[in-house]
Amino acid sequence: MAIKRICKYGEKILEKKTRKADFEELKKILPALLADMFDTMDAVGGIGLAANQIGLDLRLAVIKIKREDEEPLSIVVINPEIVERSGALYEEEGCLSFPGLFAKIRRSAKVKLRAINEKGLPIEINAEGLFAKAMQHEVDHLDGVVFISRLPLLSRLKLKPALMKLRAQWKKIDESRMKTM
Ligand SMILES: [Zn+2]
Repeated sequence: MAIKRICKYGEKILEKKTRKADFEELKKILPALLADMFDTMDAVGGIGLAANQIGLDLRLAVIKIKREDEEPLSIVVINPEIVERSGALYEEEGCLSFPGLFAKIRRSAKVKLRAINEKGLPIEINAEGLFAKAMQHEVDHLDGVVFISRLPLLSRLKLKPALMKLRAQWKKIDESRMKTM
């Protein structure tokens, strides 16, 4: 198991649609990959992580949501597709690839998703609230869409100075990490 480096905004892999996974091909490396993805997400306190955020061109994401008095909800989706949407949400979102940046994003309140799970079985997920929001955020990642591109142009322009400042910091963090590795 290992904690992977998370790709930051500006890296090309985040803005490219990922390749559909072939489960038979993926099967052998899947347990180790999922362990790494959950470890990486836990290490930074995230609730979702897409494979391209750790540099893999693969249509796969993991989600882990804390629940009251219950085990966290952990879900693996391979080749996920949103097949139904309803309602609307307008809430603040963050992203592990944009550390320190938050913005209110319009999402559907409920989504139905089809995917393959970690056992290679087809699943259908009905998600709402935070879970639905996380699913839409991760499927967007796999489509090469970062959350700030969901903002209206004007809001995006307003964010630009903050984003430039943050980018300089992320670069420094990654460079110092590379030196210590
Ligand atoms: Zn994200």
